Amino acid sequence: MSTPVDGYLRHIMTLCATDRAGAVADYIPELTRVDPDGYGLSLCMHDGHLYSHGDSAAQFTIQSISKALTYALVLTRLGPREVDAKIGVEPSGEAFNEISVDGARRPKNPMINAGAIMSASLLLPQVRDDDSATLDSESLEVRTVDTVFDDLVSFYSACAGRRLHIDDAVYRSERRTGARNRAIAYMLDSFGVLDADPEAALDLYLRQCSLRVTTDDLAVIGCTLATGGVNPRTGRQIVSPEVAQRVLSVMTTCGMYDGAGDWVSSVGLPAKSGVGGGILAILPGQLGIGVYSPRLDAHGNSVRGIDTCRHLSTDLGLHMFNVT
Ligand code: GLU
Repeated sequence: MSTPVDGYLRHIMTLCATDRAGAVADYIPELTRVDPDGYGLSLCMHDGHLYSHGDSAAQFTIQSISKALTYALVLTRLGPREVDAKIGVEPSGEAFNEISVDGARRPKNPMINAGAIMSASLLLPQVRDDDSATLDSESLEVRTVDTVFDDLVSFYSACAGRRLHIDDAVYRSERRTGARNRAIAYMLDSFGVLDADPEAALDLYLRQCSLRVTTDDLAVIGCTLATGGVNPRTGRQIVSPEVAQRVLSVMTTCGMYDGAGDWVSSVGLPAKSGVGGGILAILPGQLGIGVYSPRLDAHGNSVRGIDTCRHLSTDLGLHMFNVT
């Protein structure tokens, strides 16, 4: 049944679809093969109702949006004290792939690559030079990258409410071309702050970036965080309200690459974007938004995705500091 909400969503999509600005990511060949005009929009409401429009079933790689989820997972596993000792929560103001660390050589936040590689490393077995000899071979064997990745996929899938899968071709390309991320992992290692094997941390990070999602998935993931960690479609508590609140806070200040300040002023929703063309945005307590369109602006954010969120925020008064 088509509701007034569906009519409104179709209307803003028609408006935003005329914008053909930006360019699809081209740092690996797989990302250039997508339909540049692909455009999907999904909203998941706190009662679990899903509005899906356009290419809402099209699969694309989650890329940097994964950083928010792995941060949630690592906070859940280790607790904020341990995570805060390793990763800051300050906006870096620099590009996502800068090696931004603070005075304690902590990556400035979990939404830049250095912070995301650190998050991934915290899920892996910690191998310090002095204890590697005593680490028993069984724990090494069971907690390989494969096992940790399985756990990570289960967590992401629980947030999305369906089993997610990796895009093997994207993953292989990311590995082939990952010199800068490899450099970041080894730089952290050289600072003495990475307790896991740098190759394993890099591998886990690149695998998580290569998971395929739809805008429906993003909307459900967003709503899971919006409602204090309960997946609104499965009813399962996936993370605690404290973890959800922390993740939303960091998404607000650091989620949109170095365009985060402009985003918070004009759209005013915690969000995270990825170079696959996806944006996940959240209205705390209310709903999750997933939008996909692969043409990106200079910051690496989806052009139509930003435009769509701007319309939603302005027209529906979704800005979280809405006092008008
Ligand atoms: N795999 C990409 C990288 O780390 C993700 C980039 C992004 O979405 O910002 O370089």
